[in-house]
Amino acid sequence: MKEASPGFCEADIERACNPGSFQKGLTLMKQGAVKLTGGSAGAEAQVASERGHGHYAVRLGRCGVSVNAKCSCVDARTRGGLCKHAAAVALVFLQHSQDLPQMPLVSNGASSKRPRPPATPRLESPEPEEVKEPVPLKKPCFPKATPRAPSGYMARGFFLRQLQSSAMAGDHEAFANDLERMDELGEKEASALLHKAVQGQDLAGSERIIQLLLDRPDGQRVAMTGAFDELRRTPLHAAVAANRLGICRSLLQARADVAMKNGNGMTSLDLAQRRKVDTSKGDWRQHEDPVLVLLREAMKRRTT
Ligand SMILES: [Zn+2]
Repeated sequence: MKEASPGFCEADIERACNPGSFQKGLTLMKQGAVKLTGGSAGAEAQVASERGHGHYAVRLGRCGVSVNAKCSCVDARTRGGLCKHAAAVALVFLQHSQDLPQMPLVSNGASSKRPRPPATPRLESPEPEEVKEPVPLKKPCFPKATPRAPSGYMARGFFLRQLQSSAMAGDHEAFANDLERMDELGEKEASALLHKAVQGQDLAGSERIIQLLLDRPDGQRVAMTGAFDELRRTPLHAAVAANRLGICRSLLQARADVAMKNGNGMTSLDLAQRRKVDTSKGDWRQHEDPVLVLLREAMKRRTT
């Protein structure tokens, strides 16, 4: 067993399995059939079919130590409990000391229309193989309140990578979901996320992601200190360059310094002014560049 505790153990997986699936899952795991695919909830995987018929999609979560799963195979739908694919994925997570998100499992099949079976009492017997009746899926509980930080170095890296890709996409919902699971971000981590979000593909999503980051002390600190990206720009410089007015405003509200210089010795106001010159064709006389107006006002407030 690894030193980092993922919050569940092998016996918990075995207990949640339907008869026989634990051993088969162990085999699948050893064959390398599991491919983690991430997903917004952080615990999705594909398991290669033993007969080479493509993949099964598996989603994992846990409630306390009880491991829950959804798999696209027939076995999972008809028997309940963890099928061999889910068992294999859970074992891979355990192998990497990677925790499972605390979450109710949303059914993705037709079964979501049916009322859920009542929770089965925890079996006292340590030999679930002896149970001949299919074990219904455990009733999902609805966690909240205490989002847990992922335990272990690997899990942290995993969530950080997910956060970075949702920041780049401007996927606010996925970002919010994963950010809740992170304890304090390091300066480099927060800076990387902030810079990626400034450039995020979806503008509305990016603005919300920036706000989420700025609402945290770690994110706000980075906005204030103006941590450079690889182009030696502060987040505010990057937002000006990307012409993102809303993000400039949020950064200034979070006390980003308009007078801070980038690696070329230019302030973000200089940058906005130069940008103005660059784009001064057309009707710029009638319409003031709103980014420039915003930064000028910020500079004025700073010097008075
Ligand atoms: Zn399955």
